[in-house]
Amino acid sequence: MIALANKVIQCCRDLAGFSEEQGRTTRTFLSPPMHDVHRHLGAWMRDAGMQVSIDAAGNLRGLRTGALPQHIVIASHLDTVPNAGAFDGILGVVMGVALIEALGKIDPRPTIEVVGFSEEEGVRFGIPFIGSRAVTGTLHDPDPAILDAIRAFGLNPAELPLAKFSPTATAYLEFHIEQGPVLESLNLPLGIVDAIAGQSRLNFTFTGKANHAGTTPMQLRKDALTAAAEWILEVEKFASQQPRLVATTGSVAVEPNATNVIPGLARVSLDVRHACDEIRHAAVTGLIAAAEQISKPRGIVVTHEQRLDQSAVAMDATLRSKLAHAVETAGYPVHHMPSGAGHDAMIVAPHIPSAMLFLRSPGGISHHPDESVIPSDVAAALEAGLEFLRHG
Ligand SMILES: [Zn+2]
Repeated sequence: MIALANKVIQCCRDLAGFSEEQGRTTRTFLSPPMHDVHRHLGAWMRDAGMQVSIDAAGNLRGLRTGALPQHIVIASHLDTVPNAGAFDGILGVVMGVALIEALGKIDPRPTIEVVGFSEEEGVRFGIPFIGSRAVTGTLHDPDPAILDAIRAFGLNPAELPLAKFSPTATAYLEFHIEQGPVLESLNLPLGIVDAIAGQSRLNFTFTGKANHAGTTPMQLRKDALTAAAEWILEVEKFASQQPRLVATTGSVAVEPNATNVIPGLARVSLDVRHACDEIRHAAVTGLIAAAEQISKPRGIVVTHEQRLDQSAVAMDATLRSKLAHAVETAGYPVHHMPSGAGHDAMIVAPHIPSAMLFLRSPGGISHHPDESVIPSDVAAALEAGLEFLRHG
């Protein structure tokens, strides 16, 4: 299997060469190099015996029909962030083609469709998941700019409804690099995603009083930034005490932001994620209360506004246990974990039972040219994938 794993890795590296920018990998929704990706990967799909097409959303589709009633979709995305690595998204599509090749002429087999989504990252139009929304029939009233891009790529937006997944599709499987450090820290090649974490985003404003840094004694100050700072440390402590909860205060703005003025105002963002919505909501409530508790004795007024409250998306329990069984049968340890990042599976899951298998990300690095995979991990994922397809 290691030979096929190396072929997968080489294919991902080759595809990374199809870019809008010289010397680095940047390939946004239906940009010209996506034609090259379709040609290159489409050729391997045909060699593996698949019928190849491009739907009206620009998704690359390869179909291999089988005698069994199951119809399994293996998919991920072919677009990238600017200055990307070679594996985010792409690996999941290439692995699908490799699995078809590995299955060879085994019969009876399920119908397997490999899909390379045209868009997931939301880079070109600020709208993510265009590809997976199209196949689930949830790309409602797309922006005129998206329709223009579809036409410019040589496709017909009027045919978008035809991009929808066949109603016979019974399962969706997405292989993806973890894009984080957890599997590496546990020394594990693979992780079975139990849910894609929900997300809360809030903005907090701490209002105190700007004043002279020289003439205002410490006990007579209303320093908005020190209140915010105490709260930021509390956010870190709070999240560290709860398993799998992550909370980030990634953006801070201070006014007037001058060396000799006590900060009168501090704006701090809060990003909270957890695979269980109740735990996430409780955390947000707790952190709002903490901000008030910290601010009050300091004479600071704190307000907040909610910017995002996105629910967690659970992966299908039956598919998850089938995937766990496949990983175990292939001889690898089973580890269940949430995904902190969003993925196409999140869009597909409400429509078709869905599962995700993570591959270890060396150094936890992603969205960066140094993004990589370990060949033996890719081989492990292929072996588990074969087990899943044979017995799933
Ligand atoms: Zn991705």
